[in-house]
Amino acid sequence: MMHKIAEGLLTLLYPEHVACILCGEEAVINETGLCTACERSLCRCDDPTPLRHASGFTAGLLFEGAVMEGVHRLKYGDARFVAPLLASYIEIPPEWEIDAIVPIPLHWLRLWKRGYNQSALIASALSERIGVPVEETLLRRSRYTKTQTAFGAAQRAKNIRGAFTASSAAKGRRILLLDDVRTTGATLDSAAEALLHMGAEAVYACAACETKRY
Ligand SMILES: [Zn+2]
Repeated sequence: MMHKIAEGLLTLLYPEHVACILCGEEAVINETGLCTACERSLCRCDDPTPLRHASGFTAGLLFEGAVMEGVHRLKYGDARFVAPLLASYIEIPPEWEIDAIVPIPLHWLRLWKRGYNQSALIASALSERIGVPVEETLLRRSRYTKTQTAFGAAQRAKNIRGAFTASSAAKGRRILLLDDVRTTGATLDSAAEALLHMGAEAVYACAACETKRY
């Protein structure tokens, strides 16, 4: 009996969903949903590396430690709740005039396998915060590409070139591209090129995180 009451009290104090958003460990978490270790390990990306084809680029966090773990769970572990947290670190410079957020699309085959586009989830959380709509139909992935992880910079650029096709509705639009992780920038550059080629007025880009190591 006492045991049952104690168990009930514990459930009240520590509801079952009290697990850190990034590492998934049950722990004492703060109001952002992170454990102390993850919270301390986060590094903001203060010096985002410019892209070739976008008018501006910004990234929220550095892709390392707990952030890598969180992104991995978002992409491969169905942990969709990681997306709003990542979005909360993206700061869009006030001088960027944008009227649509376009997440980097997945090829339909990968989308079908994963069940969702992780970048679209991040985009939708950012959209709620900054009041700019997400328009996924402005860009599609027209070619299936191998995963970029094992490639160097030149190979990445070659692999992704021409992989995107912009919709004619992109003409005259001021677009903010969004990717989950920026590595060499080849993906965002290739997408920006496709949109500009279609007549977009301006293309800016952002990523939830940027990795400085590749
Ligand atoms: Zn954690």
